[in-house]
Amino acid sequence: MNALNNDFNLLGAEARAFLGQKHGLRIGGRVTPSRGDKQTAMIDPSSGLVVGHVPEASAADVDDAVNAARTALDGAWAKMRPYERAHAMSKLADLLEANSRELSELESVNSGRLIAATRIFDVEFSAHTLRYMSGWATKIEGRTVDISAPYMPPGEFFSFTQREPIGVVAGIVPWNVPLCQAVWKLAPALAAGCTVVLKPAEPTPLTALRLADLALEAGIPEGVVNVVTGSGSVTGAALVTHRGVDKISFTGSTATGKLIAGHAATSFKKYNLELGGKSPVVIMPDADLDKAIPGAAWAIFGNHGQNCCAGSRLYVHEAVFDKVVEGVAEIAKSIRLGPGLDPASQMGPLVNKSQQERVLGYIASGRAEGASVLTGGEPLDHAGCYVQPTVLVNTAQNMRVVQEEIFGPVLVASKFSDEAEALKYANDSEYGLGASIWTRDISRVHRFIRGFKAGNVWVNVHNVLDTALPFGGTKNSGVGHDLGEQSVLDHTRIKAAVVSL
Ligand code: NAD
Repeated sequence: MNALNNDFNLLGAEARAFLGQKHGLRIGGRVTPSRGDKQTAMIDPSSGLVVGHVPEASAADVDDAVNAARTALDGAWAKMRPYERAHAMSKLADLLEANSRELSELESVNSGRLIAATRIFDVEFSAHTLRYMSGWATKIEGRTVDISAPYMPPGEFFSFTQREPIGVVAGIVPWNVPLCQAVWKLAPALAAGCTVVLKPAEPTPLTALRLADLALEAGIPEGVVNVVTGSGSVTGAALVTHRGVDKISFTGSTATGKLIAGHAATSFKKYNLELGGKSPVVIMPDADLDKAIPGAAWAIFGNHGQNCCAGSRLYVHEAVFDKVVEGVAEIAKSIRLGPGLDPASQMGPLVNKSQQERVLGYIASGRAEGASVLTGGEPLDHAGCYVQPTVLVNTAQNMRVVQEEIFGPVLVASKFSDEAEALKYANDSEYGLGASIWTRDISRVHRFIRGFKAGNVWVNVHNVLDTALPFGGTKNSGVGHDLGEQSVLDHTRIKAAVVSL
């Protein structure tokens, strides 16, 4: 079973050296210890072995970080021209690529994600995001407005709007795609001229720390990108309640999102919340099943089911249900579980023990409520946090496994008899993040695009994101957007000006 442990001989010298460091917070361009003495251990989820410690930032550390961000906002960063901001962001993209091996290895060891995914998604997509967003830095515009106030003489005013950076942004991210999520928070904020205090998730802080170092190297001034590591209840709570934070850009669970919205309501902080999901995959009888079956399997098993948009509910027309579900189960059985650093692995461990226990708890609850396990359903007999890819059938809409986000490699599959029933089941969820429809009928495609209650809809594919497309959810999946032009505008504040001529 040792083949299930990461082999650290595969690591390059840079990742090895970074792992061997004593890690500090990144505040005002300096690497600094926490003012408290609490440390959090980082565990390699493939083996359960400790691979380092990071400090838990106290409220006083968070205060330092917010103050550093404020100083940079009004100082060095404000003095840089939009083009210079764009240039520095683009340089940061180059540095991510130049350090791709180190970053992707750190991410894989820290999160359990597969090395190919960390290289392509975490590093390349992050570089792509920075380049796309850097283009917006020079394109933030206001408008001139002819005013008609009846109580003022006509024609004697020049009026316009201008957009200004919203201020200091708290970027709080989860552990499932850590570097990429961090960059999604950072890039639109930097494009808009904001400064950032980033809080990575407890289990996966390493690449955020490296990102801050590379930002300095790229010429982004001290204090523009700060990183505070630590728990949600101490570090995260101190950040979201800090009076010096103007906007909270959060990705994580719906429960934490509700807490944050509550804090923000009392202080009128702006926020965007990218939250949980329980995304449906709907397969019609006319779909290209050679495409739809692997599509449905990887919609859930990609990133070990730890994707917010994971296609975790599969609805298949009764005419093709058995064929599709058996096909998905065959793929599930064939998936090679292994450590993230092994290029032959097709699915890695879950991020940590508590996530493994949570996922197994859901499988047990499905069984208790009457669902049947078609395949999988068990952990591996190993210290790593592995769970077999699992398909549950005989499920009903009211079961917890159908309604609640599991965030693991567990698919619930059931059948429908017509379009109306498919849409009814698909929309019967507190979440509304993603949804996909698989069919060859163009009219049906448009009926589903219109009918799905979700922020992101896909046709004959699932979970394709791009920096140019806004990404966000409806219902309990969130408020606002990451990515796209909208995410940049959401980091600005509009000011209206009237000049008497
Ligand atoms: P989580 O809410 O537990 O934690 C997310 C982040 O919030 C972490 O950095 C955590 O430390 C911090 N946090 C926790 N409590 C806090 C508090 N009281 N105040 C401030 N910060 C706090 O979520 P998680 O378990 O890390 O991530 C999994 C969740 O993230 C899933 O629900 C998943 O769907 C969601 N997610 C959503 C998207 C999206 O774009 N919609 C993307 C990825 C993940």
